[in-house]
Amino acid sequence: MQLSRRITGITQGGSDGWDVYYRANRLSDEGLDITHLTIGEHDIGTDRSILDAMHAATLAGHTGYSAFNGKMNLRERVARRVSERTGQPTTPDNVLVVPGGQAGLFATHHAACDEGDTALYIDPYYATYPGTIRSVGARPLAIPARPERMFQPDPADIAPHAAGASSLLINSPNNPTGVNYSRDTLMGIAHICQEHALWLISDEVYDTQLWHGQHISPRTLPGMEAQTLVIGSLSKSHAMTGSRIGWVVGPEEAIEHMGNLATHTTYGVAGFVQEAACFALDRGPEFEAMIAAPFRRRRDLVLRLLEGQNTVRPIPADGAMYVMLDIRATGLSGEDFANRLLDTNLVAVMPGESFGQAAAGHVRVALTVDDERLAEAVGKLVSLAQNLTA
Ligand code: PLP
Repeated sequence: MQLSRRITGITQGGSDGWDVYYRANRLSDEGLDITHLTIGEHDIGTDRSILDAMHAATLAGHTGYSAFNGKMNLRERVARRVSERTGQPTTPDNVLVVPGGQAGLFATHHAACDEGDTALYIDPYYATYPGTIRSVGARPLAIPARPERMFQPDPADIAPHAAGASSLLINSPNNPTGVNYSRDTLMGIAHICQEHALWLISDEVYDTQLWHGQHISPRTLPGMEAQTLVIGSLSKSHAMTGSRIGWVVGPEEAIEHMGNLATHTTYGVAGFVQEAACFALDRGPEFEAMIAAPFRRRRDLVLRLLEGQNTVRPIPADGAMYVMLDIRATGLSGEDFANRLLDTNLVAVMPGESFGQAAAGHVRVALTVDDERLAEAVGKLVSLAQNLTA
C-alpha cells in the first residue's frame, strides 16, 4: 500500500552522520567497554524525590484523562517561572503543556506553517529539526552559522531568505555548539522577523545550562511577544528526559489553537507526570543549578585539558551539556575522525556532520560521563588528532 509522501519523507535516508552512534551502541551490546559521549542524556536518573511525587500522584488518583492543554496548576507554575526568569508577564493562557520539547517543536511548526511553506532554521542544528518541519508539510531551509563566528548566527545571512518564509527556528544555548546567542544577534533576528512577519520559534530547553553571559529569551525583545513561540522542557533542566514533559509559551490565540492540536494528537500529558512536574518546578532554581553543575564542571575540565595544544580547538561553550571541537587540522571529516576514535580508542563522539553542514570537520562531545572517564576520553581524542597531524 502506498504511504503518504509526508510520512515517508520525514527523514531523507542516506548517511546522516549517525552511523557512528548506532555502531557504538552495537559494540557496547557486544560487550566492549565504550565511552559514550554521544547523546544529551544525564548520567544521573530523575531525582528520587520527583519519582516519589510521581508515585504519590498515581496513588492520589491522577491516572485518568488529564486536561488536554495542561493542568491549570502546572500552567500556572510554568507561567510564573517564565515571568520570573524573563521579566515578561506570562499567564496560564500563554502556556500549553506538551509531552516534551520535541512535541513543542512539532506543535509550533504546525501553528506557524501551511503546506509547502518555507521554515528557516540555523545549521548546526538539533538533529530532528528538518524532519519536524517536513512532518508538518513545510519545507526546511538551513541557514549556516559559521565556525569563524564561533557559530553565532549572522542576521545578514538570514535576511536574504526571510521574504516569503513563515518561521525561523533558533536554539540558544545551542545544541550542538554550546553557543549562547548575544543580544545583538537576537536583536538582529527579531528585526528580520518583524520586517518579514516571521514566527520566531525559540527552543530554550537548555536555558538552565548557561555558563557565561545572560540567557535572553527573544520573546522579551520589543514587539516580539506577539510573534514568538518559546519551547521549554523539564528534560534537561530536571533530568526528566523519559517523563516527556515540556511546554510552549506564546500568544493566547496561538496557544488555544495548539491546544486543539493536542486534543487531536496526544490528548494531553499523563496527569501524574504533570503533578511530578509541578513538584519538580517547586524545588526552585537551586535544584536546577544542582542538575546543571556537573556539565559546567566538565566543560571547564575539557577546556583545561585542551590548553597547550592547537590541533583540537574547542568552541568555548557558553552553555548546554556539550563541547564542540574543531578537528579540521587532522584533515579528516568529523565523521571519519569519530569512526577512527571509536575503532582505535573505544570512545564515541558525534560527528559535526550529523548536525548539518556548518559543523563539518568538528565533533561534539557530550559531557555525560563522570569526570575521570571524560578526562581519559579527551586525552585519547587529542592523542589521536595529534598522531594524525604528525
Ligand atoms: N531541543 C533541543 C535543542 C534538544 O537538544 C532536545 C533534546 O536533546 C530537544 C529539543 C528535545 O527535548 P525533549 O526531551 O524535551 O523532547
